[in-house]
Amino acid sequence: MVKTYDVVIIGGGPAGYVAAIRCAQLGLETACVEKWINFKGDPALGGTCLNVGCIPSKALLESSEHYHYLKEGFGNHGIQVEGITLDLDKMMVRKEDIVLQLTNGVSTLFKANGVEWLQGHGKLLAGRQVEITHQDGSVDVVNADHVIIATGSMPIEIGAAPVNNAEGIIVDSTGALDFRQVPKTLGVIGAGVIGLELGSVWNRLGAKVIMLEAVDDFLALADQQIAREALRQFKKQGLDIRLGARVMATEKIAEGVKVHFKDKEGEHEIVVEKLLVSVGRRPNTDNVAAPGSDLLFGERGFIHVGDDCETNLPGVYAIGDVVRGPMLAHKGSEEGIMVAEIIAGQHGHLNYDAIPWVIYTHPEIAWVGKTEQALKTEGIPYKIGTFPFSANGRAKAMDTAIGMVKILAHAETDTLLGCHIIGPYASELIQEAVLAIEFQASSEDLARTIHGHPTLYEAVHEAALSVHGRSLHKINT
Ligand code: FAD
Ligand code: NAD
Repeated sequence: MVKTYDVVIIGGGPAGYVAAIRCAQLGLETACVEKWINFKGDPALGGTCLNVGCIPSKALLESSEHYHYLKEGFGNHGIQVEGITLDLDKMMVRKEDIVLQLTNGVSTLFKANGVEWLQGHGKLLAGRQVEITHQDGSVDVVNADHVIIATGSMPIEIGAAPVNNAEGIIVDSTGALDFRQVPKTLGVIGAGVIGLELGSVWNRLGAKVIMLEAVDDFLALADQQIAREALRQFKKQGLDIRLGARVMATEKIAEGVKVHFKDKEGEHEIVVEKLLVSVGRRPNTDNVAAPGSDLLFGERGFIHVGDDCETNLPGVYAIGDVVRGPMLAHKGSEEGIMVAEIIAGQHGHLNYDAIPWVIYTHPEIAWVGKTEQALKTEGIPYKIGTFPFSANGRAKAMDTAIGMVKILAHAETDTLLGCHIIGPYASELIQEAVLAIEFQASSEDLARTIHGHPTLYEAVHEAALSVHGRSLHKINT
């Protein structure tokens, strides 16, 4: 007898597992098919984010920042520290412990909410059936009134630099989260989010990092005023970022890898001990739907969905990295909640204009809403307010008075259109602007909101005041 569920979710990453919990909360009989095998050889929930993405990278960013600050930053506070040593093994064990605690936590949440975890590879068949191939090769089929595909994404590979994480010389992000020694030199292909975060980790731990970025614009998705400041800060930290550099070939040699690349000055080669390939991610749709299911795929292999994440097949939804939109954990989770609520007959909704972006470098970079260049392209009239952290008391006290807050508001209605931050705890500060955009607030609303003193948030307040030329702690121009 084939079992029927109200909802079967394929994929247990932040999109799929959150959808599963919300479905169960809403009283739907829910199963989640997940095949991940973790570094200990055990089945695990949590997907890329918890196992080899957001969480382990932030664990290493935190540890490496402490190490670096101990060496370079404490002196300014009048604290002399000697005899600093690095125990990389311990740093890695700490990272692994965090991953295990959080992935086991999802499994506990499944049990508590009554979500059934079907371990194995899931495939959509015709008629909303899902086939599950277990690790031992056995196969089951279940029926579902609704199916949610949340199979995530995987690193894009380039022919010029074939990745082999097991060998550990040319690696993707998973390999670069697991080096057992600090490389003397690390090459990075692609100066995007992963390249910058993991490049920062190894730079802080002592590697010489050279980043080869194909396009001429640095952080093309970010507001370009912020991106310019970021490039200046990263170069000061010793990250050797080369823009407009196209990798043509790599060769493995005794010292590591010889990388041949081309820029507008001609052809060059560098030798690095390890090479990270971080040129983007692609939707993971390998063997996810049987041809007979008639599931429609769109541009660049993403599963085609409408605004409500429903595919061309009624009752079949897709969420997270496997569909259009930014590849961010919180975007996938919110799509999961939206779809669960729609399935339960509620009015699920997601405001795609209020999704925050964060890059966890030092200083951090975060934004929400439109960039200045997008407003120009779209012909939307705007006003700008900026405020530098160098004039913020708390940032000074913390000895991290670098960067700025930039606010963009509609020139006629004053509605907040975007907020862009480079500076201390930008990841946390941005949330005030996300809330303001969600509430369709104006820059005046932000300016009239009382901000505690002394806090970093005062820089957001001052940037809002500056939209109307009435910043109090900088000279208005
Ligand atoms: P995934 O997390 O990829 O999960 C998909 C799951 O589906 C996987 O567990 C996979 O095993 C499973 N699966 C796939 N196919 C099948 C199948 N056929 N049957 C059964 N199971 C299947 N985002 C942020 O927002 N903040 C960050 O700080 C951040 N840092 C990152 C750092 C790194 C190094 C990387 C690589 C990514 C980072 N991301 C970050 C991106 C984030 O990890 C992804 O956006 C997020 O994981 C996408 O969630 P998802 O559930 O759609 O897919
Ligand atoms: P990315 O899109 O951020 O950056 C890839 C970079 O590689 C781009 O700048 C691109 O121009 C460049 N590039 C592409 N092909 C190239 C080539 N052949 N040679 C040299 N450069 C090339 O992608 P990513 O850094 O791989 O990260 C993938 C995604 O994972 C991100 O877009 C993001 O959605 C997610 N992520 C998010 C976070 C976060 O939220 N903090 C952290 C890590 C990853």
